Amino acid sequence: MHKRYKGIAWWGWAAAAVLYVGAAFAAVEFAWNRAIDALADVGAHRLDLYASSLTSELGRFEMVPALVARQDSVRALLNAPPNEKAGLLPAVNTYLEAVNRDVGSGAVDVIDAHGTVIAASNWNQPVSFVGTNVSYRPYFQDALARGRGRFFGIGTNTGVPGLYFANVVPEGGVAGDMAAGRPLGAVAVKVSVDALEVAWRTPAEAALVVDGNGVIVISTEPAWKFSAMRAITAQQQRGIQASRQYAGRVVEVLPYRRVGDWNGAAWFGLFPDPHRAGRTARYLVMSRPAPQGGDTIMVLLDTAGARRQQRIAFGFVTGMFLIAVLYALYALQRRRTIQEKLTAQEALRRANDQLETTVVQRTAALTDANERMQREIAERERTEQRLRATQQEVVHAGKLAVIGQMAAGLTHELNQPLVAIRTLCDNARTFFERNQPAQANANLERVGRLVDSMAVLTAELKAFARKPEVERVAVSLAEALAHARLIYDARIRDEAVRLAVRIPPGTTVYAESSQLQQVIVNLLGNALDAVRDAPARVITIEASEPDSRGIVRFTVDDSGPGIAPKVLAHLFEPFVTTKPRGQGLGLGLAITSRIIEGFGAKISAANRDEGGARFTIEFAAAEPQRTEHGR
Ligand code: ADP
Repeated sequence: MHKRYKGIAWWGWAAAAVLYVGAAFAAVEFAWNRAIDALADVGAHRLDLYASSLTSELGRFEMVPALVARQDSVRALLNAPPNEKAGLLPAVNTYLEAVNRDVGSGAVDVIDAHGTVIAASNWNQPVSFVGTNVSYRPYFQDALARGRGRFFGIGTNTGVPGLYFANVVPEGGVAGDMAAGRPLGAVAVKVSVDALEVAWRTPAEAALVVDGNGVIVISTEPAWKFSAMRAITAQQQRGIQASRQYAGRVVEVLPYRRVGDWNGAAWFGLFPDPHRAGRTARYLVMSRPAPQGGDTIMVLLDTAGARRQQRIAFGFVTGMFLIAVLYALYALQRRRTIQEKLTAQEALRRANDQLETTVVQRTAALTDANERMQREIAERERTEQRLRATQQEVVHAGKLAVIGQMAAGLTHELNQPLVAIRTLCDNARTFFERNQPAQANANLERVGRLVDSMAVLTAELKAFARKPEVERVAVSLAEALAHARLIYDARIRDEAVRLAVRIPPGTTVYAESSQLQQVIVNLLGNALDAVRDAPARVITIEASEPDSRGIVRFTVDDSGPGIAPKVLAHLFEPFVTTKPRGQGLGLGLAITSRIIEGFGAKISAANRDEGGARFTIEFAAAEPQRTEHGR
């Protein structure tokens, strides 16, 4: 795995760095070359300018000594014997003064053949050249030897640097003509170069004129003046001293260093910085020979501007590069964001597709489940119908069973008395045949009783079979109980049963009087049966006050053995009994329950925790004498 930074591989950064360094280098190089080329152009232009200004400036003065040398008064002064010279001098001095003023030179003087200045434009000035000997000055020597001389130097009297032009004054011929005879003397003009220096001065340049000795004679940089641009030999030094060219100064070499070349047309030099002491400045140096022979014009162009352009180019490239890098990072980030967005969209789309597929699958599964359920429902319905049919069959079968049961019970109940009646009848006939009517009569009486008991049975059956259609009225519970009690009075007394009755006086319920009596008779009868063999024989009959819903709770408790578990669930069905044959038909509670239903009341049975059974009837309480139709 390659190392990455901000998502770009190391070689990406390396390539960018190489590109940057290359671009910066190229830009710096290009800027430098362009700037230096421009500087070189400026330098060449300046050199032209300075050369032409030198030519025009100095050319103005070059002919002045020759013209003055032709002047008759000058020649007369030089030719005159010593005793006559004083008479001619004032006119010459005045003339020289006028010429000097008119051409604008520094001074004009006339020198005799021995090198002594005999007349000068500054004859009446405090510092006058008159009387000074200049025979050692090269311009005088050159003028005498070759007709004319030219020389940069510092004035020995004035100490002011200047350019000297000199011309010989020949004995008879034209100035400069060697064949014209022995020279009478020379005429010299001194020109100040201060004006030139001031005119040439520009901020980022230095202009120099270097003479044949290699000494700077004109300089826009005052500190460099009269320094040498090259080493001075001992011989040269002696010559300089002899000519007092630089007013006796020891010429020092300017401490500069050549550090490079520019297309052979210029060179780079480190010069003492004129503006910052102790520092150096780099200049592009260009030179060309001055129009007057022997001298050289030099122009030094400060390269600080080029350096500045280099820095600007470097800054520009760096800035552009930074922008490019930032843009690249931005583009990369953007691409990545778009990529991520696309990926997210793709994932979303896939999730969506998946969801749709899932939904379709689930829908199909649901549809399946639904269809299955529909089928199951239909199946259930069919089953239910079958079940109902079966149930009805069962009910029918149950009814048949009940009828069968009933028939068996009835056959049994009726068979016994019928057999007894048959026997009694046979016996009665025998008694009649034997003529014993009393016995026969007794038998017939017994037949009558048996028939009565059979009638009771059929009456009970009739009561069970008949759907009770009663008119409900307000019946006093206490009265109904008193009636039932009357029936069992003897039995209660004989069997020593303690009967406790607690019925709030005036309690009335919706019922039918005789049926209510029958219900109480049934319950009281069952209770008496239950307590007969019990150690304590207690029966408690109670009625509550009507509750908030208008219900009167009527209970019959006994101290018997309680209801047998096997009959508890079927207590109110017909023919359910635990009593021995002949003592119970199992119809009492079935009839009771039907009567209670007819009252719109409710009956229930339970075994009490303290032993014995409890039968409870919930009656609707009634206002006395009010009548309501039952169902
Ligand atoms: P029968 O009295 O002819 O048996 P019932 O319908 O009156 O018919 O009673 C059905 C059965 O309920 C009785 O055989 C008996 O087992 C039970 N039973 C009724 N009342 C009581 C009671 N107070 N205590 C215990 N068992 C009772």
